Amino acid sequence: MASVEDRNAIREAIRKICVGFPDQYWRDIDKASAYPQAFVDALTQSGYLGCLIPEEYGGAGLGMAEAAIILEEINRSPGNGLACHAQMYTMGTLLRHGSADQKQRYLPGIASGEIRLQAFGVTEPNAGSESTRIETRAERKGDKYIVNGQKIFISRVKQSDLMLLLARTTPYNELTDKTQGLSVFILDLRDIKGRFEVQPLDMMFNYHTNILFFENVEIPVENRIGEEGKGFRYIIDGWNAERILIASEAIGDGRWFVDKGTKYASERVVFGKPIGANQGVQFPLAKAYAHVEAAACMRDVAAAKFDAGEKCGAEANMAKLLASEASWEAANACLDAHGGYGFTREFDVERKFRETRLFMTAPINNNLVLAFLGQNVLGMPKSY
Ligand SMILES: Cc1cc2nc3c(=O)[nH]c(=O)nc-3n(C[C@H](O)[C@H](O)[C@H](O)COP(=O)(O)OP(=O)(O)OC[C@H]3O[C@@H](n4cnc5c(N)ncnc54)[C@H](O)[C@@H]3O)c2cc1C
Repeated sequence: MASVEDRNAIREAIRKICVGFPDQYWRDIDKASAYPQAFVDALTQSGYLGCLIPEEYGGAGLGMAEAAIILEEINRSPGNGLACHAQMYTMGTLLRHGSADQKQRYLPGIASGEIRLQAFGVTEPNAGSESTRIETRAERKGDKYIVNGQKIFISRVKQSDLMLLLARTTPYNELTDKTQGLSVFILDLRDIKGRFEVQPLDMMFNYHTNILFFENVEIPVENRIGEEGKGFRYIIDGWNAERILIASEAIGDGRWFVDKGTKYASERVVFGKPIGANQGVQFPLAKAYAHVEAAACMRDVAAAKFDAGEKCGAEANMAKLLASEASWEAANACLDAHGGYGFTREFDVERKFRETRLFMTAPINNNLVLAFLGQNVLGMPKSY
């Protein structure tokens, strides 16, 4: 476990990197709908994207608490970790369930940044949140699987070398346990250029998300992770890590909004005094601040439990729920404090406002988080 001093040093190091990518950089990237390659390169070179990979594979061998600090600090800057956060944690499925050969083949390259594994293909148009309903089919033919189907909202495909793909290996109606029958594959995107279609989606903010069409795409059997039919379980195993890290990004955003709103409210003078002296401006920021910090406490508990190898589903889900709501509250308080200027691009509030809204909806919407808490933690009757 890293010491307090080590964690402070990580925080400082990330802040230093982020200083090199000021407001204007992110504003220009947003306007051009471009990928923040220079920022991702800097982060890759720092080694922090490989922080969760064990040292034996060339990673930093750090824990969830440290990974959380890294993403939180990125989002606390004018920047955003969404462009590269998946490089940090998508490999978790491979690390936990991959064979020794697969880990040797891919993890060192992912740790160094030479191989980008930051695409994760689960969601489909007809299944939505009900992932066990996905239809994309991987049929075994000898030493290959042949994949046909469609995915939607799959991010960073064009910025990845590998994609973790969840596909159906047993038809849904042949299953007694609906969580079985799905398998996870490492799809080497460098091998299949031209044999599947990537259709970019025009989103509310600068996010590199796509619709994918697979037509007879071949995947070698050796690229299947773990046992056939157990893929859904392997994917679920990564959800707590993802929730803790998404919560951290929301906390970073929340702190950025509180700082930005507080500074503006203290400086802007209307009716002869700073607008922040009015409780109608001050209290929403103070309340959002309290909620962001409370969410950070829950995130810290979740990360500590994760790193100790303890069950943390309840805490990880609560952290994601509280942090996404708190950052949205802070975003609104900050926007309100800025008045009309909040809507102008040069203040960056409207950009961050658009970006932070995602956390209430994806990677999982807060209704399903509440359903998990209500049903799996509190034991109430199931709605689905
Ligand atoms: C920017 C972005 C990036 C994404 N990146 C990826 C990616 O890289 N890979 C990937 O696989 N997916 C990705 N997703 C998909 C994301 O995980 C899905 O949007 C999500 O799983 C929900 O699916 P859906 O959008 O079809 O919503 P639906 O399942 O249609 O749900 C719509 C709404 O209905 C409500 N709802 C649904 N079911 C219930 C219920 N049982 N109880 C109460 N309320 C319910 C929820 O409030 C939900 O918001 C991304 C999405 C976005 C927006």
